[in-house]
Amino acid sequence: MRIVAVRERAVPIASPIANAYIDFSRMNVSVVAIETDLVRDGERLTGYGFNSNGRYAQSGLLRERFIPRLLAAEPAELLEPGGANFDPEAIWAVLMRNEKPGGHGERSVAVGILEMAIWDLVAKVAGRPLHRLLAERHGDGEPDPTVSVYAAGGYYHPGKDEAALVAELEGYLGLGYTCVKMKIGGVPLTEDLRRIEAALELLGGDGSRLAVDANGRFDLAAALACGEAIEPYALRWYEEAGDPLDYQLNARLAERYPHSLATGENLFSMQDARNLVRFGGIRPGLDILQMDPALSYGLTEYLRTLAAIEAEGVDRRSLVPHGGHQFGLAIAAGLGLGGNESYPGVFQPFGGFADGFEVRDGEVALPELPGVGFEAKSDLFAVMEAV
Ligand code: MG
Repeated sequence: MRIVAVRERAVPIASPIANAYIDFSRMNVSVVAIETDLVRDGERLTGYGFNSNGRYAQSGLLRERFIPRLLAAEPAELLEPGGANFDPEAIWAVLMRNEKPGGHGERSVAVGILEMAIWDLVAKVAGRPLHRLLAERHGDGEPDPTVSVYAAGGYYHPGKDEAALVAELEGYLGLGYTCVKMKIGGVPLTEDLRRIEAALELLGGDGSRLAVDANGRFDLAAALACGEAIEPYALRWYEEAGDPLDYQLNARLAERYPHSLATGENLFSMQDARNLVRFGGIRPGLDILQMDPALSYGLTEYLRTLAAIEAEGVDRRSLVPHGGHQFGLAIAAGLGLGGNESYPGVFQPFGGFADGFEVRDGEVALPELPGVGFEAKSDLFAVMEAV
């Protein structure tokens, strides 16, 4: 059993939306296909991967460093003992040959893309849906039958007023979501408070059904001022108030803000996530951690992250991965996490879940297909097959 080809293509994931920091109209992603010499149903068994939204395609790093390393490895180096399947941990070590520790940059995204394809492949070789394979290997044996998902939206858009925001969020409720998230930090606080109050009115005043996301926009003073202003709403969480690497800011905010804070989508390694828990004032049982396995060296590193933060007293139900993709959903179900993000209607075809699997009461189920389940999302799989 060996890898015979690895292909990569950068494709658009452009969406006409903006948060407090970036607009997404020029965003792209890398899609990879890892082809093996195994044949199933008359076709070569192939694993697929892509990077999550929010970071760009990694064509250069993939083509110059990581794909050549994978192809140069001895086939046996990539297999588990006995040779029955590929070994994600061994492959991770091959990918990271000649890479110094620290300074993670965006190589964590490039490795994460290949890693997604490797896990898709490993689950396909085993003939198991990834969420079941993960529950058996790294969870409590049985995956969660459904995963709690929330609709992330509420982006800024030129000319979009409160009525348009409420109409958007109402649309998500109509799709079966019970919790929604909206952007803040892109306009003055008084204006954001009006937006939040309009959203809360739609939700019957129930703050536990609304999260807000500042995308790292605030300095400490602005983060505290916003925290004080939104405290009475008792929101589901207050996300990325300050720069994702400013652990002291998060710790100071956590001393004053009594409800849940959320962060982690821009942390790309086990070390970064563990530092956040150790030095960022994370309150176990209250705060939410959002590391995205597709951006942070893949699932192999995510398992290390999980072990490291559980050792620091954080329960895995506090993890709600960023990204809104099927890989995150399978991981959340298999490992028994607290939920998964979802972006109804944007970041297509990479965002969203299997065809015909509707959200009901804020929960979504997974298809029982070998691998991550990409073959059950026809628009995404068409893009993958073309690679
Ligand atoms: Mg966010």
